Amino acid sequence: MRLLTAKKTKNILLSGILGFSLFLSGCSSDLKILTQVYQQVSNVQDTSTEENSSGSKVLSYDELIKALKSGKVPDYVLKATVDRVIDGDTVKLKFEDGTNESLRILLIDTPEDTKEKQYLGDVATSFAKNSLKKGDIVYVETDGAKTDKYGRYLGYLWYDSTGNKDYKMYNEEVVREGLARVGYIYDAVRHLDKMKAAQYEAQKSKKNIWEIDGYATDKGFNQSLTPTSDNSGGTNSKSVYANTSSKKYHSTSDAHGMKNSTKMSEAEAKKAGYSACKTCYN
Ligand SMILES: [Zn+2]
Repeated sequence: MRLLTAKKTKNILLSGILGFSLFLSGCSSDLKILTQVYQQVSNVQDTSTEENSSGSKVLSYDELIKALKSGKVPDYVLKATVDRVIDGDTVKLKFEDGTNESLRILLIDTPEDTKEKQYLGDVATSFAKNSLKKGDIVYVETDGAKTDKYGRYLGYLWYDSTGNKDYKMYNEEVVREGLARVGYIYDAVRHLDKMKAAQYEAQKSKKNIWEIDGYATDKGFNQSLTPTSDNSGGTNSKSVYANTSSKKYHSTSDAHGMKNSTKMSEAEAKKAGYSACKTCYN
């Protein structure tokens, strides 16, 4: 992968410096300091001076939004079309060279909604389906390794949230909605600050996965803490957003641009005669 090369070279170089310095000093108490220096050098090189191998400068968050609006995106940002949403953190994309690839969206973890069904996994999938429709043009911003151990592409996924070049980073939005926790932090950390800020917002307002204390953990989601379904056809106490005019309930407060939704439990919505939106719940 060409994007990997610059970083690898840098790391080999830095390891060399570290190793050589240790050889010179020969003292283990210096190891800590040298490791810190090593980390500092790495961090400095990973910010604004970062370049990919073809020499284009890595844009900041705000610069990239401007670039997306103007249509002049740097070459480490790949244009693609949405094929289909798999779940809240994985989406199938068709890239400009004609290849179809699964994108594992960086730095997030949503509750499972494929083989295993975890509480709120379906809501996260619906959020993804509402944000990313088949045929939509999206942009994948790569950061570090291009693929994971399963061969899935890794990246930040930028989409036009209104059709008016209102570009948002899906990774950040799903976290802000309380439908993903910030996780899987390896060498890709470019937008970690934005992601953490979005998570803090969701935690503060106890949105979705943060509604139940201890549900979201550092390792995943604690299913033993989820509200249990009753025996009357799967209705439960999960929150839904009812639309009084269409008599349908949705998974998010602003699904399909809905205004003035009423929050209630799914059981209450069904009792009041609302039916489940087919886009949000299928
Ligand atoms: Zn809906």
